[in-house]
Amino acid sequence: MTKTGEVTRPAPILTDDNRFYWDAALEGRLVTQRCQRCGRLRHPPRPMCPECHSLEFEIIDLAGDGVVYSYAILHHPQNPSFEYPVIAALIELTEGVRVLSNLVDIDPKHINIGMPVTVDFRPTRHEGAVPVFKPKAGANG
Ligand SMILES: [Zn+2]
Repeated sequence: MTKTGEVTRPAPILTDDNRFYWDAALEGRLVTQRCQRCGRLRHPPRPMCPECHSLEFEIIDLAGDGVVYSYAILHHPQNPSFEYPVIAALIELTEGVRVLSNLVDIDPKHINIGMPVTVDFRPTRHEGAVPVFKPKAGANG
């Protein structure tokens, strides 16, 4: 979102395989797929379990808590749809799946690998929403 309040973040590209994920984000829920044969959690959304190749899955809610597994600060090329610095972060959720997202509400110099974060949601163009992560209350930031 720009300083004038205009939402500029691009909307997610919906497919039959990922629509459930983005629909949940619109409701303020972070979800993932769980294989109904072997129980493995998986992200990003895809039709087949990478472990047992089952096509049967259920969608479960996640707590939205995790830690920073890795991150990068994106400088160039700048896209006018985003506010800089953009922090791309791989978040390891407490349930064990990793989600590639953005870190928000933190000065980049205060980011540490392993720091606790929690999910938040940001609006996109075309009335969408994306999960992002912010420092967990009480964490350094
Ligand atoms: Zn499986």
